[in-house]
Amino acid sequence: MMASLIEHGIRSPAVLHAMAGVPREEFVLEADRDHAYADRALPIDAPGQTISQPLMVAVVVEALELHEGDRALDVGTGSGYQAAVMAACGAHVVSIERVGSLAQTAAERLRRLQYDVEVFEGDGTLGVPERAPFDAIAVGAAAPRLPVALARQLVEGGRLVVPITENPGGEELTRLRLVDGRWQTESLGPCRFVPLIGADGYEVADTD
Ligand code: SAH
Repeated sequence: MMASLIEHGIRSPAVLHAMAGVPREEFVLEADRDHAYADRALPIDAPGQTISQPLMVAVVVEALELHEGDRALDVGTGSGYQAAVMAACGAHVVSIERVGSLAQTAAERLRRLQYDVEVFEGDGTLGVPERAPFDAIAVGAAAPRLPVALARQLVEGGRLVVPITENPGGEELTRLRLVDGRWQTESLGPCRFVPLIGADGYEVADTD
């Protein structure tokens, strides 16, 4: 897995160190433990949800430019893997998940593995106002448009990394940075994510 990350351009020593240290097998289903380090997304314990491909986690976390002691928000806890990688980069992490059972399992897992992550259950499209502002915010699901409430929870110099849907089936990983009180956005390339569902996201599907 590490060779593949380096081959695909991950350069940050902190991110590589974190990816090498977080035990991914603890975050996947029992049946998938044997290929926990394959570079692909794997199912987690909720319909249609996945733990992201390691390369995508590394790309997102590298784009956050985390520094030791940063306050970071992870939207869409899922298994808690990305939150753990962010904490392993030295950040104090707040993570929010809309599916209660996932939030609970991830919170227990992260506590057991002793990562500095506080898990909330709820709609992360509105951020976590009681813990804002943040130096960095990662969104682990695809948003229909720029999530403004999240951008408003950044400190000056803060970074928001979010996949935004450009057309059906095509997302663009986008980084927004607050510079001199203005939002600067840049595109980091195409990506695939599950939909972000909530007040400033997509509507809940009938099957949800
Ligand atoms: N980063 C996670 C995987 C994220 S999958 C990991 O490392 O395992 C995307 C997650 O976002 C799913 O668990 C989904 O339930 C959650 N999600 C979708 N919309 C959300 C919202 N509005 N607020 C919080 N979580 C949301």
